[in-house]
Amino acid sequence: MLYKRSSQLFAEAEKVIPGGVNSPVRAFKAVGGTPIFVKSAKGAYLYDEDGNRLIDYINSWGPMILGHAYEPVVQAVIEKAKLGTSFGMPTELETQIAALAVAMVPNIDKIRFVNSGTEACMSAVRLARGFTNKDKIIKFAGCYHGHSDSFLIQAGSGAVTFGSPNSPGVTAGTAKDTLLATYNDLENVALLIEANKNEIACIIVEPVAGNMGCIPPVAGFLEGLRQMCTDNDILLIFDEVMTGFRLAAGGVQELLNVNADIVCFGKVIGGGLPVGAFAARAEIMNYLAPLGPVYQAGTLSGNPLAMAAGLTMLQSLNNDRNVFKSLEEKTAYLHAGMDKVLKANNVDFTINRIGSMISVHFDANPVIDFKSAAKGDNENFKKFFHGLLNEGIYIAPSAYESWFLTDALSYEDLDFTIQAVDKVSKTF
Ligand SMILES: *Cc1c(COP(=O)(O)O)cnc(C)c1O
Repeated sequence: MLYKRSSQLFAEAEKVIPGGVNSPVRAFKAVGGTPIFVKSAKGAYLYDEDGNRLIDYINSWGPMILGHAYEPVVQAVIEKAKLGTSFGMPTELETQIAALAVAMVPNIDKIRFVNSGTEACMSAVRLARGFTNKDKIIKFAGCYHGHSDSFLIQAGSGAVTFGSPNSPGVTAGTAKDTLLATYNDLENVALLIEANKNEIACIIVEPVAGNMGCIPPVAGFLEGLRQMCTDNDILLIFDEVMTGFRLAAGGVQELLNVNADIVCFGKVIGGGLPVGAFAARAEIMNYLAPLGPVYQAGTLSGNPLAMAAGLTMLQSLNNDRNVFKSLEEKTAYLHAGMDKVLKANNVDFTINRIGSMISVHFDANPVIDFKSAAKGDNENFKKFFHGLLNEGIYIAPSAYESWFLTDALSYEDLDFTIQAVDKVSKTF
């Protein structure tokens, strides 16, 4: 495939945008080459500036769960835009999407909308600190909760791909309040709680990790966190920015039947527009301004275009719950197919999957935490990435990212992908 125009566009972008991209995960630094510039997308496919068609396994990092340019969302946004694009005043639409989200997600009474997953997680932690009147938080190595200061301590996703899991610019004062734990290791969490008695406001966790590849929780991990939080007056925050409205209508709380105290959303909830949200039971949410003392705000929060896209997306998912089953079946099919050809080609690998999140690590040992995720063979990953790209298949340009399937994928697309994986893994 030719990427002449993409390369030219990237050279121009680099002159005026740092690294040529507005979010580091879009860069090809970890795999080599230059990013592909998109012209349009429809269903399961991306069309780039050179006229190539790519099967998309990123789907804007999750939101396009029903495919690109999903007609009902496009129509809703167009209709709303004609009526004005921002008011800075309340609209009925905000109540409609809030009511639907509260109905779909277990264990929440109220929800507040923001503009990104970063804002949702940042605000959730502030709320937890205000509510508990404690300062420290526990996060897990390799989990990513957006780019706000408290979270850039052993962060996953782009932060680790580009070698800055602990970013300069985060003050020592901020960093000291973030305690770092090992994913899937309850004993480690218990030790941290013991050593910081009555100082921990919250534990924030990706209930299924997706920012160090896909790492599901081991049996008992989330239940154990729940119990420790209850026993120690700590709030449990599920960062469901990736998993919310993807793994089930009610997210991981529903899927694995564990209750969090605060839940964060992003990605799917915006239907492809910039939306995040955080939610909890009324007692906690009423701590927010203007009802309570914890301040949080946003000029464009609840923006009508964003809410129209989000509401339409949630309605589509809510009206056809079969979509989660269909996605799971497609992803399981891909999983089984890739497993077969990688084994046949004697590749060392581990595939982790839950629902429609899946990742391939090039290491034969179980991948259960950040340390085991970091062991993957990056040279093989580079060959894998560029090999698939050459076949017209786009996965994330980093071994630390999950794939996000869209229901727009056909079984022909999946068969084509499995054949491409076979072909590419023969070159390892
Ligand atoms: C993507 C992501 C975020 C950050 O969301 P943005 O919208 O990129 O700010 C936070 N947490 C998790 C788990 C994510 O996957």
